[in-house]
Amino acid sequence: MKFLEAKESFLPNYTKKYTFINDKHWTVEFVYVDRPPEHIICISCMYGCPVWCGFCKSGTKFFGNLSFEDMRWILNYIAEDKKLFTTDQKIVFSFMWSWESLINYENVVQCINKITDTFPTASISLATSWVQIKNLPLLASKIANYPKIQLSFHSPFDEERKKLIPNTADLNVILDILSDYHSKHNAKITLNYIVLDGINDTVKHVKWIKRILEKYPFSFKINEYHDVGTWYAQSKHRDRFIAQLHKEGIFPKVYDTGWVDIWAACGQLSSEKMGDVLA
Ligand code: SF4
Repeated sequence: MKFLEAKESFLPNYTKKYTFINDKHWTVEFVYVDRPPEHIICISCMYGCPVWCGFCKSGTKFFGNLSFEDMRWILNYIAEDKKLFTTDQKIVFSFMWSWESLINYENVVQCINKITDTFPTASISLATSWVQIKNLPLLASKIANYPKIQLSFHSPFDEERKKLIPNTADLNVILDILSDYHSKHNAKITLNYIVLDGINDTVKHVKWIKRILEKYPFSFKINEYHDVGTWYAQSKHRDRFIAQLHKEGIFPKVYDTGWVDIWAACGQLSSEKMGDVLA
């Protein structure tokens, strides 16, 4: 594994996107964000992503999993570069910028345990979207520091959600497993939602989201959708959708990662260099 290049952004926080390359010439991107009082390290656990969500740049290529050694080497590189071994700021390790951690859960388990040994006060978050949700209890059985989980939710309707996230499991199965994880490990669960134009931005969606949130003790978050060159677009009615949620007593955190100028926001990470290097 070698460092290939880095890009920096100052909008809205100092952010550095690193690209690394392995001996097969596959590239992978990690992101560091200085958001006082936290350092945030966004970890990729795959070279590309095999889930192929139509709205996400990361899902346009897939070459394979990162090994634990790959992730350990990269995290050590970033920790030295950003002086994390001696910082007083809290550190958040986030397996959620892109890629599906629960597919590569064996290497992710080793990585979580190494992070916990090295940075005992760090917090860990993990995102998931689909069929390998059953690996969550397996992962939890092998770690001591239970990550907060964010589910790529995006629709309260199974048929519609499965069009956005191919091969994802049924929502009732996913939500029950998450609920069980929450009650056993007291870990926060958040349902992430991007409001897509003409897809998931209606009153009907609001009503069904409300039903789900009445049943499960989960938080709800709306993420900004960044144009990544797909046929999806952020809803023109996003503000109206949020107002309808408020009317129903739902007050989601509305989150924009920023860092769009260096393609470091949610859904933007990609192995763009891969083709160039192989050509
Ligand atoms: S949204 Fe997540 S799971 Fe879907 S393709 Fe992108 S990285 Fe993969």
